[in-house]
Amino acid sequence: MLRLTEIRLPIDHHEEALRAAILDRLGIPGNALVSYTIFRRSHDARKKNAIVFTYTIDVTVEDEASVLARLKDHTHVRPAPDMTYRFVAELAKPPVLRPVIIGCGPCGLFAALILAQSGFCPIILERGKAVRERTKDTFGFWRTRKLDPESNVQFGEGGAGTFSDGKLHTQIKDPKHVGRKVLTEFVTAGAPPEILYAAKPHIGTFRLVKVIENMRQTIESLGGEFRFESRVDDLVVENGKIRGVILGDGTSIESEHVILAVGHSARDTFQMLYDKGVSMAPKPFSIGFRIEHPQSLIDQCRLGPNAGNPLLGAADYKLVHHCKNGRSVYSFCMCPGGTVVAAASEPGRLVTNGMSQYSRNERNANAAIVVGISPDDFPGHPLAGMELQRRLEEKAFELGGSSYNAPCQLVGDFLEGKPSTQLGDVIPSYQPGVTPCDLSSALPEYAIEAIREALPAFERWIPGFTMHDAVLTGIETRTSSPVRITRNPDDCQSVNIKGLYPAGEGAGYAGGILSSAVDGIQAAEAVAQAIAGAEKQK
Ligand code: FAD
Repeated sequence: MLRLTEIRLPIDHHEEALRAAILDRLGIPGNALVSYTIFRRSHDARKKNAIVFTYTIDVTVEDEASVLARLKDHTHVRPAPDMTYRFVAELAKPPVLRPVIIGCGPCGLFAALILAQSGFCPIILERGKAVRERTKDTFGFWRTRKLDPESNVQFGEGGAGTFSDGKLHTQIKDPKHVGRKVLTEFVTAGAPPEILYAAKPHIGTFRLVKVIENMRQTIESLGGEFRFESRVDDLVVENGKIRGVILGDGTSIESEHVILAVGHSARDTFQMLYDKGVSMAPKPFSIGFRIEHPQSLIDQCRLGPNAGNPLLGAADYKLVHHCKNGRSVYSFCMCPGGTVVAAASEPGRLVTNGMSQYSRNERNANAAIVVGISPDDFPGHPLAGMELQRRLEEKAFELGGSSYNAPCQLVGDFLEGKPSTQLGDVIPSYQPGVTPCDLSSALPEYAIEAIREALPAFERWIPGFTMHDAVLTGIETRTSSPVRITRNPDDCQSVNIKGLYPAGEGAGYAGGILSSAVDGIQAAEAVAQAIAGAEKQK
């Protein structure tokens, strides 16, 4: 198969035009083209009046060798890489002691899928509920302000990204094309097939729920076992080796291979791991606010006369500013046509995030505007970053009126340093509600100063970004894990507890759905190799 890159066509091109461009690129007649598939499609909007799609196409032709020989100097015609996923180890019958996976987010779910597909019959322990029930609890919190600390945006089947925009791009290095396996499995489970080729794929909340259920059914059909409402409260460790886990109800499960995929919000679990002596270190993360603008403003700026064109969808943005005080401020987890969501998991603490549906057709665009902070800002204890998050979330809860209303401020007022007393033209989407106030006490002074400097700088890229009525909603603290649960790079095991495989976002080795899923697969491969190696020696 050949891979053709940089085929550029107007966005409204006819389907035939793509075939014609392929034939033209390869210099072959129509009957020599066997088939083609779109591997990647992005749009180039640098010239807003002439936006083009840029394609990467995988092509099968009659005589590949001669085409390649003739075009050997063409940089945009190459053999397509082999992206087939290969299992590293397989078992004919389940091991006596089955591997255990703690957490059913993208990391745990994909670890489970790989282990199930290769015959290891994993047990998946998830503190939250199955995704349908969890959806009711989460939406219930947004309506009624009743937070279930075990079933919410952070906890439950599907993990933290279930009620999200479902963005699936990542910048991780992926030489083995594991990300392709993730996208392919998502599509098999019901995700839109275009995620396989869209440059910035996304699934959207409601579709994700069904995808997760389908993946669970597949894993179960292969011998995997899910146990919901099963929080792991302790580890059984003997002589530096894991022997099992203990659940909240006191029951224990024996296992010598435990993947720890608990996400960045499992604060009680981080504390338990620390108390148990599991090696960990503080790590940088970011704090800030969500910002909301009319989506039409973003579309107009990014797409000009093509704003609103359904072929392009709702526009996004990515911004960064390096401040005079040495801090960097950047946009994060931008959700075109989405909503700001209440993402708390602890009573009396408030945190925001963003989500959207597949259609991305809500009125507002939102993104986190965050400032990078590092352990220098929270020196001392390995869990000091987590405690800082807690303190900031408590303050945000108070500023909002101690009712799970989020504190908010108009951008114009924030820049002028005066409290907001009412909302303007941009209606904030956060539920159950917002409380206009002064956000300057919501974050450390250096962060407020940095955001005050960055917003006008962003105006240069997106005119209107500092419009008076745009809304800042507080606060964002859970941009990534505040700790790294250190592991050996070669076998993915904890540096001081053998058989424990810290993985995914909570362990500090991934950030986002796709990279967490990829990391889960890597952890599963390490487990599979370890178990298969031990079985061989028996
Ligand atoms: P998690 O998804 O956090 O899963 C961890 C799981 O472990 C949870 O289900 C939790 O209940 C369970 N758990 C924790 N402790 C225990 C315990 N002691 N015992 C048993 N179970 C336990 N990323 C993107 O790439 N794109 C997006 O569009 C996007 N949008 C987001 C929107 C929102 C609202 C949120 C909250 C996050 C979003 N993210 C997004 C981030 C993404 O969700 C995370 O990066 C990803 O889910 C991390 O995967 P994970 O499996 O490592 O951890």
